[in-house]
Amino acid sequence: PVLKNDLAAQAIDHCIFPIIDAAEVKRDGPAIVASGTGLTIIDGAGKPHLDMISAYTRANSLGYGNQEIARAMYDQMVKMHYAGTVSIVTEPMVQLARSLAELTPGKLSRAFFVSGGSEAVESAVKIAKQYQVGSGKKPHAYKIISRWNAYHGATAGAMALTNHLSVANTPDPAMPGVSKIPNPSCYRNPFGMAEDEYFEFCANYLEQQILHEGPELVAAFIGEPVMQANGTQIPSKAYWQRVREICSKYGVMLIIDEVICCFGRTGAWFATEHFGIEPDIMTMAKALTAGYAPMGAVMTTEAIADAIPHFRHVHTFSGHAGCAAAANAVIAIKKREGLIDKAYDNGVYFLAALKDKLTDLPSVGDIRGIGHWHAVDFTSNKKTKALPEPRMVKAIADKMKSLGVLVGAAGTAIEVAPGLIATREDFDRTVDAFKEAIVAIAKDYEIAAA
Ligand code: PLP
Repeated sequence: PVLKNDLAAQAIDHCIFPIIDAAEVKRDGPAIVASGTGLTIIDGAGKPHLDMISAYTRANSLGYGNQEIARAMYDQMVKMHYAGTVSIVTEPMVQLARSLAELTPGKLSRAFFVSGGSEAVESAVKIAKQYQVGSGKKPHAYKIISRWNAYHGATAGAMALTNHLSVANTPDPAMPGVSKIPNPSCYRNPFGMAEDEYFEFCANYLEQQILHEGPELVAAFIGEPVMQANGTQIPSKAYWQRVREICSKYGVMLIIDEVICCFGRTGAWFATEHFGIEPDIMTMAKALTAGYAPMGAVMTTEAIADAIPHFRHVHTFSGHAGCAAAANAVIAIKKREGLIDKAYDNGVYFLAALKDKLTDLPSVGDIRGIGHWHAVDFTSNKKTKALPEPRMVKAIADKMKSLGVLVGAAGTAIEVAPGLIATREDFDRTVDAFKEAIVAIAKDYEIAAA
């Protein structure tokens, strides 16, 4: 190949870009990021941006350039960076497993480590299936129930549980045994039901689906405690409590996928805590290491782990000592600085400010959020909650970027999900940028007044 000097041209020549249209990257160029400190990143042209979306993936929960995490990783890496897997352990790995046992809800006490969210989901599903067989409770169970609009990852098994075509080989049949039920979406739902009525309908649907599939064949149900599709979907406590009740009634493992919610995103160590339920299996990744190292984990209970006589599974980098050192440092910082409680309080402040400044704008349909995770959901008609013009949502996010504030378009909504170090000033600046962008952009689209 002809090798070029320009970084953007090199990226286009030698990198594969996921999710996005290749033509779009070729036309607009990749987004070059040069450096970062705190919540500010500097792009390839030297322009600063306030990152209110945690590196778009919602992973970078402690901002950029954190020396304490970097030092913890360095110290561990030069001592023992990676020792192997299976029954080989290192001190940071075991320390992390112990911390997770302490921090996760209920009886969760056994950890299996992986390199990211999709692997965590794959491992969780295998724990559920091998438990059903190993315990002798459901020797033939292989079915998993997931939900419409779910995102659980892009590897084959996780992708089958996912409901985004953006990560699927569309002609492929997906992993057999997966079925999907309605998800408790806020603000608008396909049947025009009131929100609580719809949440109840979605929870009760699970029972019907288990009966339809055959309870003896259903190994697990998986769900994100707060869903990302169309922006920060927060169901009611009653929804999750009913789901827990149904799973227990039919011996279906409840897998809570905390990959995006974990470690403070919702102002709790785990979003599950808001709903007062105990999962059988829980996945986590992203903010586990605040984006400083690729790592995920699956937690389960002693009873479930002990019922699996021989876990038929492995990943080369499971329990990587350098990654575990990063996670331990992240947990120590979040505890010491009280960042989880602060995130909850910041969320209350930010929600009130967003509602105060944006509610009356004609294109704004709903504003919701918790902790450091909020969404402004758009509409082209406030009365009917009609869908917004998708180009408008993207244009508002782009306008905010031009104002120096990075946020994320998520379907009909725009999300704000900054690191836990975001200050009230950062939130205030975001509200102002939101208002300026919506007013500037929405006038170009026909929107029915309330
Ligand atoms: N599960 C959830 C809830 C997620 O949000 C994601 C990623 O966004 C994943 C799983 C997949 O994680 P990864 O991209 O690290 O494989």
